[in-house]
Amino acid sequence: MKVFVTGGAGYIGSICVEALLDEGHTVTVFDNLSEGHRSAIDPRVKFVHADLGDRAKITQAMRESQAEAVMHFGANALVGESMVNPGKYFRNNVANGVNLLDAMLECGVKKIVFSSTCATYGNPIKVPLTEDHPQNPLNPYGASKLMFEQILKWYDHAHQIKHVIFRYFNAAGCTAKYGEHHKVETHLIPNIFSVALGKKAHLEIYGTDYDTQDGTCIRDYIHILDLAQAHIRALKRQESTIYNLGNGEGYSVRHVLNAARKITGHPVPAIEKPRRPGDASRLISGSSRAATELGWAPRFPKIEDIVESAWKWHRTHPDGYPD
Ligand code: UDP
Repeated sequence: MKVFVTGGAGYIGSICVEALLDEGHTVTVFDNLSEGHRSAIDPRVKFVHADLGDRAKITQAMRESQAEAVMHFGANALVGESMVNPGKYFRNNVANGVNLLDAMLECGVKKIVFSSTCATYGNPIKVPLTEDHPQNPLNPYGASKLMFEQILKWYDHAHQIKHVIFRYFNAAGCTAKYGEHHKVETHLIPNIFSVALGKKAHLEIYGTDYDTQDGTCIRDYIHILDLAQAHIRALKRQESTIYNLGNGEGYSVRHVLNAARKITGHPVPAIEKPRRPGDASRLISGSSRAATELGWAPRFPKIEDIVESAWKWHRTHPDGYPD
């Protein structure tokens, strides 16, 4: 298929693009490079350097791409930043997303795969979280993603634009070529590697008084290649649907840290800090709907394999992407 990918220079977008290309799809990447990297853009794509705030530019690029489907990764995704700068999140993740949908209407593109998040659920009432769990986001990032989910519902109702919404749990891991390089890094696994690579003296553990076995937050880490496979399967889906994407297995911050210590061979000193505002204590996915309806099964569920694939990329790219 011809696929129009927003945010294709970012972490998850670039690796989904690589998987799409490897399976024979044709890809146009639309990215403003505010968070993404030029060297994360696969040379096999057509690249349009532009902003989702520019609706005319989206329409022009989409028309030229002859897109049959859109994958929408382009967004801001830092919980902490969203707590202090909510406007950025509502503008980029909600208002600019509406530009994208209106461009789809103008170009007659009727299918979108959207990157949503388990942060739309808030603190779980029951674990694992299934897709019908109440959504009460704890931060503007999660709220902005939930708003766009709702907008998608109404664009289906009014205009028959069909959506597949993926609520990612914690995307992690890398491929040989593409990896995780955020301009401001706040994520656990890359932060651990910064210590192992000698760029930071210690890891900060945010919160050791949660109601979990070792007091630290629990997350469900899912390999980026498994996310990519779900996206490719979603292209075949005719009906609008929402899917969680996770392994159904939760690991604490300390567990991930210990796995990374073994894999890197570095002691990775850690200091205990207060809780990070906006963090839920425990997020674990119930992903049986994706398994049943998309025939999706994670191929790399073990946290050790996920951390190891990420370490391979970070070790060979200690400063991330050059541009
Ligand atoms: N975390 C931490 N130290 C760090 C980065 C993250 O203790 O340097 C914790 C964070 O509070 C959360 C978990 O690790 O409980 C995963 O955080 P991350 O930012 O990787 O993903 P999120 O779950 O926020 O999307």
